[in-house]
Amino acid sequence: MYIACPKCDWRPAPDHKWQCTCGHLWHTFDTHGVCPACGKVWAETRCTIPGGCGQWSDHEEWYHEDDDVTVADYIENPALIRNVSPLPNPRSDSQEDE
Ligand SMILES: [Zn+2]
Ligand SMILES: [Zn+2]
Repeated sequence: MYIACPKCDWRPAPDHKWQCTCGHLWHTFDTHGVCPACGKVWAETRCTIPGGCGQWSDHEEWYHEDDDVTVADYIENPALIRNVSPLPNPRSDSQEDE
């Protein structure tokens, strides 16, 4: 499982912080969108600028499964396609041996 913006695929670093309306700074995916200081539930999470698109998305949509990308997912979220090509996959080597 990884966490990424459903609109632009920006991936927050583990020490990235979001700010609540109460002023508290915390990593919102540590608490599933709940501010640990005041208890406010953030049903939507905002992508960050710079780096991301700055748009709000449903918190649940930020959670992605690693290997379960289907054609329907690509159609629904074309930004995923950018992840496909340049990454070397160690498993592709062993396939050629056989
Ligand atoms: Zn708060
Ligand atoms: Zn984004």
